[in-house]
Amino acid sequence: MTRKLFVTTALPYANGPFHIGHMMEYIQADIWVRFQRMVGSEVNFVCADDAHGAPIMISADKAGKTPQEFVAGIAAGRAQYLDGFHIAFDNWHSTDAPENHELARDIYRALKANGLIATRTIEQFFDPVKGMFLPDRYIKGECPKCGTKEQYGDNCENCGAVYSPTDLKNPFSTLSGAQPVLKNSEHYFFKLSDARCVEFLQSWTQTPGRLQSEVLNKIKEWFVVDEQGQGGLNDWDISRDAPYFGIEIPDAPGKYFYVWLDAPVGYLASLKNLLGKRGQDFNAYMADPDVEQVHFIGKDIVTFHTLFWPAMLHFSGRKTPNHVHVHGFLQLSGEKMSKSRGTGLSPLRYLELGLNAEWMRYYIAAKLNSHVEDIDLNPADFVARVNSDLIGKYINIASRAAGFISKRFAGKLSAEVGIEGSELLAVMRAKRQTIAALYDERELGKAMREVMLLADSVNEFVDTHKPWELAKQAGQGTANSDALHDVCTVCIEAFRLLTLYLKPVLPALAAQVEAFLRIEPLKFADADRALGAHSIGEYQHLMQRIDPKQLDALFEPAAVEASPPGGEPVAAEIKIDDFTKVDLRIAKIVHAQRVEGSTKLLQLTLDVGEATPRKVFSGIQSAYQPEQLTGKFTIMVANLAPRKMKFGVSEGMVLAASHADEKANPGLYILEAWPGATPGLRVR
Ligand SMILES: [Zn+2]
Repeated sequence: MTRKLFVTTALPYANGPFHIGHMMEYIQADIWVRFQRMVGSEVNFVCADDAHGAPIMISADKAGKTPQEFVAGIAAGRAQYLDGFHIAFDNWHSTDAPENHELARDIYRALKANGLIATRTIEQFFDPVKGMFLPDRYIKGECPKCGTKEQYGDNCENCGAVYSPTDLKNPFSTLSGAQPVLKNSEHYFFKLSDARCVEFLQSWTQTPGRLQSEVLNKIKEWFVVDEQGQGGLNDWDISRDAPYFGIEIPDAPGKYFYVWLDAPVGYLASLKNLLGKRGQDFNAYMADPDVEQVHFIGKDIVTFHTLFWPAMLHFSGRKTPNHVHVHGFLQLSGEKMSKSRGTGLSPLRYLELGLNAEWMRYYIAAKLNSHVEDIDLNPADFVARVNSDLIGKYINIASRAAGFISKRFAGKLSAEVGIEGSELLAVMRAKRQTIAALYDERELGKAMREVMLLADSVNEFVDTHKPWELAKQAGQGTANSDALHDVCTVCIEAFRLLTLYLKPVLPALAAQVEAFLRIEPLKFADADRALGAHSIGEYQHLMQRIDPKQLDALFEPAAVEASPPGGEPVAAEIKIDDFTKVDLRIAKIVHAQRVEGSTKLLQLTLDVGEATPRKVFSGIQSAYQPEQLTGKFTIMVANLAPRKMKFGVSEGMVLAASHADEKANPGLYILEAWPGATPGLRVR
């Protein structure tokens, strides 16, 4: 029976470009999907940008864009990664698309009708300057346990204490620096603690084949209620207050779905969009009991996909996922990936350096298994697997045999091969079921090992029969010529089989091989067929070895990017004319005073050698007492357009240095001129 598969990867958050961890997941899922298609399954493979939530709203604001514009900009950059690594999604959509708004609201209405939505008033931190409730990650303060400064609202990096943001001492908003105030707000909850949900989820999670055993073991702990009645499933807070970039909750003005409510709905929205483009009916497709819904996700989002998501679907009368495949993380040389520590690897840079995307696909396949284990990307290992496995064991089989076939036998294979060759090919064909099963079980590393073992046996065959010696002897009689034809035909047929088995991993290479062998696109069933007296094309160079220096170039710049000076990269290059537009002058601070009603500003009276001194407001109150500044010589921008501020007009700007991340690296330093400089001198 033809399997019907609806396959997704996790939706990437649309506040930045892909990192190599995204690519690992897409490569894993893409290999699985390509395999399924090669055995005749019908697959719809979709993804989308996860577009909503406070972080995107804030990033967009910083970039001076609307959230929609910001997300569109990120989305526009996706194709170069996906195409570059041969990731063949059938559709790429967005959670801000109309289909998702509609589906998310429909699901919510059904849950509400089912009595599974509750409202509760909660107390939450509110940023009075930004006028918004603060998500935990935008609140910092001192750890209530050990007093370490600059800790996030949920846990302490120093002592490991877990707490809520309201427990922090001296909390501040990382958005405005203001002290947040507690404010009441009505929130909407999905009643996951409802007995119906608990019962459903226990049975859903324990259905055989649904989840990996290690995932199920972890989940079982979440259901445990102790003797004091603690533990078990908690209701899930699904609302956020305006301003929020998201989907407004029906009949609840100013309330939006928390981004994690509508994010997985994006799987359905993307599918619906795809089917719509093809004129297919989404509801009919989803109602087909034969359709298997399969999600590939990372281990960090298991809760969302094994509790919230199936419960949302089930209690809104929808189909639930058949399989949730969880993978571990990708580490670089044993280190957890982290941009700030410079161990990130840019997938785009990988491509820009001319590194072959299929090397990465093969490496990742060789490392992956069906368990939730982290895998390590190690440059030396990478080079060894590409050069010794892919090139040494596999590609070389074709390059050694193809030349003789075209030069000595006019490109035509032998109709029949001898007993030894037949036996070798029979063993290779017999492995088809084993290799197919490994692909299906996502045991990609084991599948690659099986294929490489077959490649080893082909290479032994070549070394035993030495076609290059047969070629030398071939001039001396037809028997030798036949032997050469036989051995080279076996090699080409073996190479076709290896290509077939590797095709889910190496789709572009397989297409080149299909062109070279002049055959139809390979399917798994083709393993049983022999080429016979078939004419092949001229061998073209298929894949080159990797030079370890290429990888050095990949890893080096990441380390440099890790700590840009002062926390930000140097701005785009300018010409001297650009610089001279800015008129910098020596200014004497004749007076400095606090500004009533402002916690940030000082008002400075500056003598710049003009008839009247200038009044300038400067946000340096946190760093200087007014009396420290009086009499000092500093530098000001003298030709800046006067700026009307709440406290008066500012007639220029004084220069001060600070780190890009002022919260993490506090400190503000005003510039001072050397003795002898007088008011009004130009700085150039
Ligand atoms: Zn602490």
